Amino acid sequence: MFSLSGRVALVTGGNGGIGLAMARGLAQAGADVVITGRDAEKGKAAVASLEALGGRAAFLAGDLAEAEDCKGLADKAADRFDRLDILINNAGIVARKRPEALTLEEWNQVLATNLSSAFLCAQGAYPHMLAAGGGKIINIGSMLSLFGTAFGAAYGASKGGLVQLTRSLAAAWGPENIQVNAVLPGWIATAMGATARAEVTGLEARVTERTFARRWGEPDDLEGIAVFLASNASNYITGAAIPVDGGYAAAG
Ligand code: NDP
Repeated sequence: MFSLSGRVALVTGGNGGIGLAMARGLAQAGADVVITGRDAEKGKAAVASLEALGGRAAFLAGDLAEAEDCKGLADKAADRFDRLDILINNAGIVARKRPEALTLEEWNQVLATNLSSAFLCAQGAYPHMLAAGGGKIINIGSMLSLFGTAFGAAYGASKGGLVQLTRSLAAAWGPENIQVNAVLPGWIATAMGATARAEVTGLEARVTERTFARRWGEPDDLEGIAVFLASNASNYITGAAIPVDGGYAAAG
């Protein structure tokens, strides 16, 4: 039920952090995995770590803030291992600023990287999933898909938008056996998590206190949901936004 043997996955931003952890989960379940990012050195190391798990892996360099880079990505990934079954839209950035200080350029950069790239990559993946008889798209949202913060105008808009994009794609492509879901990670100890801890006074303790698990998440905490949503085990789940947050969103 959870086997991904014979399937090919594309994970954007898969060269580090949460993306690499999810790519690891898919590789362990038997998928061949294509990861992307801007940093080719990180990409090379990530591919080696995925190949060490026994499957095939490849890195594609590209800047997902650029529409042209997004458009060809699914075709390139499908060319690499002859098909494309799974897309994880994970690449993301944050502009941690109050709205009155946020420039239009920063706003556009965040929206292009986090939201428009997901739309364009999904559009690129669609014909390959149709050819395969179905597919799985997983969009990585955030707690800021649900909550507001004073420093999250662009990021929160992009992550809230991803949840609505998820529902729209699920509605459009459900009849064609393509399931589209969002994962909403809690506070996770990655490079992005480290800048949040450093830049937001008191965040470290506030998160630990509110999270039922009483700890920040680790990238590995996202491996299981990636395998579940990419596999046949989730074939009747679509249009959902699932928190993986140690209970943070359920806390009063
Ligand atoms: P990292 O900063 O560790 O990783 C971000 C990834 O995105 C990297 O692989 C990076 O690769 C890639 N990326 C960023 N910008 C671009 C771009 N313009 N083009 C291509 N790739 C890009 O962050 P996380 O692993 O923490 O974040 C992964 C996702 O999870 C993001 O969408 C984030 O918003 C989300 N998330 C994270 C949370 C956390 O607490 N850490 C909480 C909730 C959601 P490269 O640098 O090589 O370009």
